Amino acid sequence: MIKVNEHYNKLVSSYLFSDIASRVAKYQQENPDMEIIRLGIGDVTRALPRACIDAFKKGVEEMALDATFRGYGPEKGYAFLREKIALRDFREKGADIDAEEIFVSDGAKCDTANFQELFSRDISIAIPDPVYPVYLDSNVMAGRTGSFEEGRYHGIHYLECVGDNGFLPGIPDFPVDLIYLCSPNNPTGTVITREGLAGWVEYARENRALILFDAAYEAFIRDESLPKSIYEIQGAKEVAVEFRSFSKTAGFTGTRCAYTVVPRECRVFDESGSSISLHDLWNRRQSTKFNGVSYPVQRAAEAVYSEEGGIQTKALVSYYLKNAELIRTAMAELGFSFVGGDNSPYIWVDGNGRDSWDFFDMLLAGAGVVCTPGAGFGRCGRGYIRISAFNSRENVEKAMQRVADVL
Ligand SMILES: *Cc1c(COP(=O)(O)O)cnc(C)c1O
Repeated sequence: MIKVNEHYNKLVSSYLFSDIASRVAKYQQENPDMEIIRLGIGDVTRALPRACIDAFKKGVEEMALDATFRGYGPEKGYAFLREKIALRDFREKGADIDAEEIFVSDGAKCDTANFQELFSRDISIAIPDPVYPVYLDSNVMAGRTGSFEEGRYHGIHYLECVGDNGFLPGIPDFPVDLIYLCSPNNPTGTVITREGLAGWVEYARENRALILFDAAYEAFIRDESLPKSIYEIQGAKEVAVEFRSFSKTAGFTGTRCAYTVVPRECRVFDESGSSISLHDLWNRRQSTKFNGVSYPVQRAAEAVYSEEGGIQTKALVSYYLKNAELIRTAMAELGFSFVGGDNSPYIWVDGNGRDSWDFFDMLLAGAGVVCTPGAGFGRCGRGYIRISAFNSRENVEKAMQRVADVL
């Protein structure tokens, strides 16, 4: 008899987006003439930079000729891309990362979800609340948690991000083995400071723990005092893996390209306490289960580092940041308190005592605007909503005008 992985039965959070979709569908049915504005989904809306399209097309044409055709590429990604990443994203910014330490992939979602399989079933894990649900769900699927009760899985240490701590994860006063951090955070839009990150690195070193640092939104950091990479912190290379993506940075959500940094110095331990190279383990995993990103896509990603590509990518991010500023201004004028939106495309709005689904329904019914209820990102998100800056300027302006008119 073919039996299922029973751990999948514990998953609960998948209701969020289907629940939103059904509420939106019902509203549209009752208000057929209303043009709904979606500020809910974490997906970009603007076209790929021209430089990426040109490089993409050129890569496709190379596949059309025997002389330039490429078959399987290196599992870690082509050197032309890894070398640019190492130089431009790290070494020029003071972080000593080598091209050999970069693993190009088809997404930070897969990498953040897959990484946990390198570790023992019985490690202790700390995950921020609220946060991107992938970290939690992938560990649930792997059987590292107990059942779900009152909005929490047994066996996970939740790092509560609430008003009292500036919506930033606090360092536990007991040891854990694996820590997920997301900065700039999805959904709160908050960024961990340099001192904060240094504290985490010190904690991980003391406890022989590992930090999985998701920097998918680093391109949105414009405040130069804030760290974009965990490797800007001394000593981080031994205790941290960093995930990055071209998805939100350069509009690659549908094109698929990302990368993960696993430094040579990074160590994990076996039963007897002997150290093992994490880099070699991830390399082993990827070469068995992954066959690389397509050649034209890697050429398109490489174009992000060209002169025009850099200008166009920066303009893309600035466009969304301007939307975020409009949302911040509108929320402030309405008297809401919020965080994020200054170094992030997300604004995390306090419902002021309202339940997050009530807040969601109010914006939908009153203004035809769709946001994301904070409860979908964890128990600490219950009184909040996430508003996303990923839409056209026109739609953001219209949405904020409508919200101001009803409130
Ligand atoms: C969007 C997002 C990602 C992932 O992206 P890919 O498109 O899979 O590269 C990773 N982490 C967070 C927090 C995100 O919001």
